[in-house]
Amino acid sequence: MTLSTWAKNVSPSPTLAVDTRVKEMIAAGQDIAGFGAGEPDFDTPDFIKEACKAALDEGKTKYAATPGIPPLRSGLAEKFRSFNQIETAAANEVVVSPGGKFSLYLAILATCGPGDEVIIPAPYWVSYPEMVKLAGATPKIIMAGDDQGFKITPEQLKDAVTPRTRMLILNSPSNPTGAVYSREELEAVMEVVVSNGIYAMSDEIYEYLYYDGLKHDSPASFSKEAADLTITVSGFSKTFSMTGWRLGVLHAPAAIAKAISSLQSQTSSNATTFAQWGALAALEHPEKARAAIDEMLVAFDRRRLFLLEGLQAIAGVSCLRAQGAFYLFPNVSSFGLTSDDFAARLLEESRVAVVPGSGFGADAYIRLSYATSDAIIEKGINRLTEFCGRF
Ligand SMILES: *Cc1c(COP(=O)(O)O)cnc(C)c1O
Repeated sequence: MTLSTWAKNVSPSPTLAVDTRVKEMIAAGQDIAGFGAGEPDFDTPDFIKEACKAALDEGKTKYAATPGIPPLRSGLAEKFRSFNQIETAAANEVVVSPGGKFSLYLAILATCGPGDEVIIPAPYWVSYPEMVKLAGATPKIIMAGDDQGFKITPEQLKDAVTPRTRMLILNSPSNPTGAVYSREELEAVMEVVVSNGIYAMSDEIYEYLYYDGLKHDSPASFSKEAADLTITVSGFSKTFSMTGWRLGVLHAPAAIAKAISSLQSQTSSNATTFAQWGALAALEHPEKARAAIDEMLVAFDRRRLFLLEGLQAIAGVSCLRAQGAFYLFPNVSSFGLTSDDFAARLLEESRVAVVPGSGFGADAYIRLSYATSDAIIEKGINRLTEFCGRF
């Protein structure tokens, strides 16, 4: 069997692999405390589901315009203006895609190719380096460990830029660390981006999931120069528990948005038509949308603090207080195992599922998602404490 260079070099998503293994063990009757999930454990809000059902009944089941149905694109442009503060955002700068993951991939394909370098801060979301490689470009990883709050400094970025650098990927709040850049930190990083004339791809999929009273800042809102170089990616998956709907969105300068739309027209075509009509309800009913997000945030925040306290109490484990998304990323290097071995033994011996840090480019850590019940968190902490006590 002869496979392509692309197929031979791509590694499958390790987060989805953990998910699959845990589902198998649960199906086989095992009692697993699962922290692997990369998705909210809430149901999609009813008012969004109702709008989708109505769209189906109204026959909105045919192809739609490639970059998205017009009311959703203009509603999103308004959201990019009011929430993200990208003042000039217009509908022709918005593309709706089948999932935020695909939005990211198309954004990279539209801007990066062979010979280009893309700077990716680690710990990174698993798919960034693979997407860059699939575009024929070269990932250049810069490490930001827990000693620097999982955030790169402007100096690190300056040092990593070469004449071949095409793009920096940012992700705040971060998956896997939950770390959040302050506005000042983001502005300092964006100054380096602007002065070098490279692109920034800002993955803001967790833009509504903040704690400790913090709020979101979008790099594209900082200046006209920043907006001209920034592709802002988001989606409905994390904000409205719509992971299975596959709806990603992005804002980019018009010429890039147009190129992304062309790439999409030759690959996936439009995101599912009736799913888009359902998602539109989230924009048309901001008070219902806010209530749904707030309900989720209250639960996430409680679980975050509960899990954090549990992890910090375990001898040998250290964990930063993450302020966004729904992940904690504790350092377990003191146990002397690779993160793969740590996670595998934890699952087989103590029935706790976590994702090893290796897939995120950070082998000293494991990722725990607290998008799970308080009961599972309690059970998981007890088991993890017992497991770590054996070393
Ligand atoms: C979940 C996630 C996405 C995209 O999710 P989709 O379901 O494809 O919209 C993108 N980036 C990060 C960091 C994520 O965690």
